[in-house]
This record gives sequence, C-alpha cells and structure tokens, in this order.
Amino acid sequence: MPTLFEKIISGEVPATIVYRDPRVIAFLDIRPAAPVHILIVPNKVIPTTDDIDDEDESLVGHMVIVARDIARQQGIAKSGYRLIINCNPDSGQEVYHLHLHLLGGRPLGPLVQRPV
Ligand code: AMP
Repeated sequence: MPTLFEKIISGEVPATIVYRDPRVIAFLDIRPAAPVHILIVPNKVIPTTDDIDDEDESLVGHMVIVARDIARQQGIAKSGYRLIINCNPDSGQEVYHLHLHLLGGRPLGPLVQRPV
C-alpha cells in the first residue's frame, strides 16, 4: 500500500507544493504547528530514519540543504527555525515515509515537553 506521501509525490493526493526536484518534494503541512511548517520528503520510499541506508547519505544531506534554502526563501533563516524528523511510535511518527519538518516563524519553545 502506498503511503499518503507517495500519493502526494505521484499527484494522486493534492498538496501545496513549494519545491520539487528529482530527489525530493516539499509541501505545506496540512495541520501547521507554526506559521511556517513545511515537509521535505524524499521521492525514494524510506519508511523511517531507521531504514536509511549508508548509500542514502547524500539524499539525506540534500534534504537538509533543501530545508536551508526554503527557510531562506520563507524569510526565517535569521529569526530561526527547527528541523525535526520523527522515528517510530515514541516520536509520534504518523506517516511512515521519511520526512523532515521545517518549522519557524515564531519562537518555538522547548524542544520536548518535560514529563509532569
Ligand atoms: P509525523 O508525525 O512526523 O509523521 O508527521 C506527519 C505530518 O504529516 C503531520 O505534521 C501532519 O499534519 C502531516 N500531514 C498529514 N496529512 C497531510 C496531507 N494530506 N498534506 C500535508 N501534510 C499532511
């Protein structure tokens, strides 16, 4: 079964695409957690960071470079932003197709909620 993000890559499911090249696609998160919330997604099907192969090193680096460039285009490079990749259930990963969250446009607060 193709994941939701494979369907976005193929065009079967619509998304607001902000960047695309032969290796990655970037689109607006449908439930933004910050004024800028963009997902950078490789075309290659990699379910989680635990499934990244050594040969994917350049692809994963490219995802970060694309995030850097989008952050500049969005005008948040100097104010700051956060890059997040969730992996497996404890992280809250919902879509099992590797993706990098780019979040910014406001102070983002603590990295992780502390246990009460
Ligand atoms: P994660 O929890 O790291 O797997 O993140 C999955 C993200 O995908 C969440 O932030 C969702 O809001 C986002 N999302 C879910 N469905 C869509 C969609 N159709 N278009 C864009 N983003 C989506």
